[in-house]
Amino acid sequence: MSESVSIVIPVYNEIENLDALLERVVSTCERLPNPWEVILVDDGSRDGSTDRLEAAAGLYGGHLRAIILNRNYGQHAAIICGFSHARGDIVITLDADLQNPPEEIPNLVRTIEQGNDVVGTIRRNRQDSFFRRKASACINWMVQKSTGVAMHDYGCMLRAYRRPVVNAILQCRERSTFIPVLANTFAKRAAEIEVGHAERAAGESKYSLWKLVNLQFDLLTSMTTTPLRLLSWAGVAIAMGGVGFGVLLLAGRIFFGTEWAENGVFTLFAILFIFVGAQFIGMGLLGEYLGRVYHDVRGRPRYFVDRIAGDSGLARSTPETNQPAHGVIIETGISL
Ligand code: UDP
Ligand code: MG
Repeated sequence: MSESVSIVIPVYNEIENLDALLERVVSTCERLPNPWEVILVDDGSRDGSTDRLEAAAGLYGGHLRAIILNRNYGQHAAIICGFSHARGDIVITLDADLQNPPEEIPNLVRTIEQGNDVVGTIRRNRQDSFFRRKASACINWMVQKSTGVAMHDYGCMLRAYRRPVVNAILQCRERSTFIPVLANTFAKRAAEIEVGHAERAAGESKYSLWKLVNLQFDLLTSMTTTPLRLLSWAGVAIAMGGVGFGVLLLAGRIFFGTEWAENGVFTLFAILFIFVGAQFIGMGLLGEYLGRVYHDVRGRPRYFVDRIAGDSGLARSTPETNQPAHGVIIETGISL
């Protein structure tokens, strides 16, 4: 029997896109030979998306489940929540704004079935602003350099994962996770395929510059300690520079007398500022890691599930595990 497929979609204020999204996802999935379900995680929407999702959960032949979080926890937390409720052997993530064409789902399933654990996608003629594309290029480059996992496009959330990889991700208890990179660290075989990319169908991107910068920090510090090592190297370089400069000053004083050294007071200031700056960067980075350790040690759940609507009826491929490590269900059991 062919493997079952779960589609996980995080939804945050996407009311204008939901009808088209559901229509396109469901009609694509209906053409799949595999058993399938769609899990929509409402990430604390305030624009009526929640009601729309709950209503939709009863339609479409019971293939849909809506998991309603009690407030906004962010795209990646919502996806983790979707993972912990997904029952399929293959899990596919997708954005709700129709930037990732749902019609690519069969391609992803096929590529997974060719023996890959993770399938990433590369966005063909990407439809984002110049600034976003440059920011992504920078992020991709940094991830490749610091984690050594070479994939071209980490930003595209149209991705497929095999069940063992999803389970491994669910076992990671750290608070800020960047799912595509995390998945690759557990995958034995990963592949990339080209997919289409569209402009956001309606609404605005939920990622401001600030959120992007935060994501970048998440990414870097959650995946690698290279920056800490770089910090030590920078410290060594600065200290050596300082010693060299001291020797230079001494030599100048001997050869040109005290006047020369006095005139160099402002140079000294400049150099002092560089050192102080470097120290602050270092302390900031240390603080960043410390903050993350603090968050993880507290081990608070990543999200709270308010209620669940609908039941896809798909049999679980593995027993439900790990859920308490991530989220807490306050109240369950609304079945439409
Ligand atoms: N999203 C979410 N929670 C958030 C922000 C975004 O669930 O706090 C969802 C959003 O509804 C969409 C996906 O994550 O389905 C990607 O968001 P968006 O399109 O705003 O990101 P971009 O395409 O600009 O990277
Ligand atoms: Mg988008």
